[in-house]
Amino acid sequence: MKSYAELYINGQWVAPKGGETIEVINPSTEEVIGSVPAGTVEDLNDAVIAARNAFKSWANTPAEERASYIKKLAATLAENREEIGKTIAMEVGMPVQLSTMIQAGMPTAVMGSYAKIATDFEYEESSGNSLVIREPIGVCGFITPWNYPLHQIVGKVAPALAAGCTMVVKPSKEAPLNAFLLADAVDSIGLPAGVFNLVSGVGSVVGEALSSHPEVDMISFTGSTGAGIRVAELAAQSVKRVTQELGGKSANILLDDADFSTAVPAGINGCFINSGQTCSAVTRMLVPASKQAEVIAIAKSFVANIKLGGALEEGSQLGPLVSASQKRKVTACIEKGIAEGATLVVGGPETPEGLNRGYFVKPTIFADVKPDMTIAKEEIFGPVLCIIPYETEEQAIQIANDSIYGLSGAVSSANIERAKKVARQLRTGQVAINGGRFNIMAPFGGYKQSGNGREFGKWGLEEFLETKSLNLP
Ligand code: NAD
Repeated sequence: MKSYAELYINGQWVAPKGGETIEVINPSTEEVIGSVPAGTVEDLNDAVIAARNAFKSWANTPAEERASYIKKLAATLAENREEIGKTIAMEVGMPVQLSTMIQAGMPTAVMGSYAKIATDFEYEESSGNSLVIREPIGVCGFITPWNYPLHQIVGKVAPALAAGCTMVVKPSKEAPLNAFLLADAVDSIGLPAGVFNLVSGVGSVVGEALSSHPEVDMISFTGSTGAGIRVAELAAQSVKRVTQELGGKSANILLDDADFSTAVPAGINGCFINSGQTCSAVTRMLVPASKQAEVIAIAKSFVANIKLGGALEEGSQLGPLVSASQKRKVTACIEKGIAEGATLVVGGPETPEGLNRGYFVKPTIFADVKPDMTIAKEEIFGPVLCIIPYETEEQAIQIANDSIYGLSGAVSSANIERAKKVARQLRTGQVAINGGRFNIMAPFGGYKQSGNGREFGKWGLEEFLETKSLNLP
């Protein structure tokens, strides 16, 4: 695995100003697999200045030309698909076939989508005697987490490039290597110097300096609600635009007429994917009380066939958690669920047999979960599903909305119109109906404490634009 000793600033690989490094650990083996620089406030400042100096020229570059760079970037990501998939499998722990498909495939597709969005977008419209024009907001700071690391970076970089913004990326310390692969790609296509800059480092140093830097016009943050609040507080001092993609506790409502034989396995997959480390994971399965026994039986036999294993092991379907601290946190949540009286259907807090190395947790399902239990309220970020019984459709909707979060959700029913009617009543940014797939051209983002702003599609581009009215005589 590659280690990086330099940061990418102003179109060049440059030595960091401090000597510290961040080690990257493979969660499947607990081995160190690489390292990146722990950037300093000075490094970050250099990157912001480079982005500021590059802004005027990039903002004035025609959309078609910006789109041609984006196309080249998408093509380079596609060429490097295997390397990206394997790198993220080794940083995050997602099984490599899935990682190649999702962690490499999705950002490549998103990048490609913005070549078209950049040129299709209507940057000007008339309103009465005014010409309303949309302009790039300026220098952007991107702070991203480890769970879908390149997807989360590209979800910001691609629309920002399309809009004509310049940027500084601060990736997570757990999974930063993929961001360096992106910087390699940026370098190889000859993107103008200073448009894209990469400064790895810890949140309390580089992330805070980026959030409070007076030359940064906008911060786009993905991660935990706590860090998101801190970033927004710092950004408020200079009245930056802030978009946030934060946590979730999404509900999956199985209506009484749903096909349980498909909806229950699909719901478990929607919770356990990436070992439950997915902000939009449907972690609360709401089922009619009279059907709970049937749901439990299906769930038990489905989970019995899930193969746990290292990310590079042949046939493994579920990998470890990203870090030792994440494993401790998730294990404590499982213990709490037992202590609060939920019924443990499968799994539990013990380390799975034969998997003492690596941060593995048993896929765990609780039933008879009450909406006020801790496991039903807090984001666990592990392979832990809560089955919550309900009596009426109205009660199911009320339980689903009884959350500080509002990121995603799902509804299943034999009657699609009935499912849509329920979905309209959920206070969340997305709802999957009868297994509807994630769509990179549809807006993604949160209601309530799941965040502000939307990513992907034309809605993702709009976040990076300012609006100006030319009032004509
Ligand atoms: P985090 O919020 O600590 O980190 C996300 C990013 O923010 C990282 O790049 C980090 O370095 C940076 N950061 C942290 N503190 C900062 C600060 N004070 N100022 C500026 N930047 C800062 O999240 P994490 O450690 O990656 O994961 C912790 C929890 O966050 C998880 O357990 C999970 O609940 C949640 N999470 C949510 C998502 C999501 O997409 N909604 C993704 C990953 C993690």
